[in-house]
Amino acid sequence: MTVAYGVKGGVYVNMTNRCPCSCMFCLRNNAEGVYGSGSLWLEREPTVEETIEALKPWLEKGVDEVVFCGYGEPTERLDDMLAVASWVKAANPSMRTRVNTNGLSDLINGRPTAAEFVGKIDVLSISLNTDDAREYLEECHPKFGIDSYEAMKKFASDAAKAGIDVVMTVVGEPVTSRAKQERCREIAESLGARLRVRPYEG
Ligand code: SF4
Repeated sequence: MTVAYGVKGGVYVNMTNRCPCSCMFCLRNNAEGVYGSGSLWLEREPTVEETIEALKPWLEKGVDEVVFCGYGEPTERLDDMLAVASWVKAANPSMRTRVNTNGLSDLINGRPTAAEFVGKIDVLSISLNTDDAREYLEECHPKFGIDSYEAMKKFASDAAKAGIDVVMTVVGEPVTSRAKQERCREIAESLGARLRVRPYEG
C-alpha cells in the first residue's frame, strides 16, 4: 500500500481514505492513484510510526515539502497527522509542511481545530470550489449538509488569523468562469487567504 509518494520535488502522505464528501470531480472516481503513485487505496490506515517509516527514505533523499494529501481527507486523522507533522518539524525544522484539505476539519472533529495546526503545518490548501453554499452542497455532497460551506470558510479564516499561510483553490475554466473566479478571489481575500486557480485537467 502506498503511504508516501513523490510529486514534483515533494513527498505526499496518504494516511486515510476516509472523507465526509463525495465530490462530483473527485479523482478517486476514476483512478487508483496519481502521478505514478501506485494504488492509493489503503488496505488499512498506517499507524503514526508506519507513516514516519515510510517518510524517512524520502527525507533522506531530499525533498522540499511534505504534503498531507491522501486519497481521502487528511483531517479525518487530525491527531495522527499532526503527530507525523511534529516529527517532521523536529527532524527537519526548515521542511515546509502542507495539508491539502476540504476545510471541514472543525465539523469532522467536532471542535475548532485551526489553532492545532500552528507550528506543525506551514500551508493549508483548502478547496473553496465555488462562491455559493448551495452549489457547494450539490457538487461536494458533504455529509454535514448546507452548513459545510460556512464552516469551511470559518476554518480558513481561523487558520489565517493564527498565522498559517492559507491558499484557497478553485478549478479554472471551463469549470469555474472568470466572473466566478473573481468572486472566489474576493471571498478568499476577505478570509485572509489567497486564491489559487488550479488548471482544469479534463
Ligand atoms: S473532498 Fe477530496 S477526497 Fe473527498 S470526495 Fe472531495 S475531492 Fe474526493
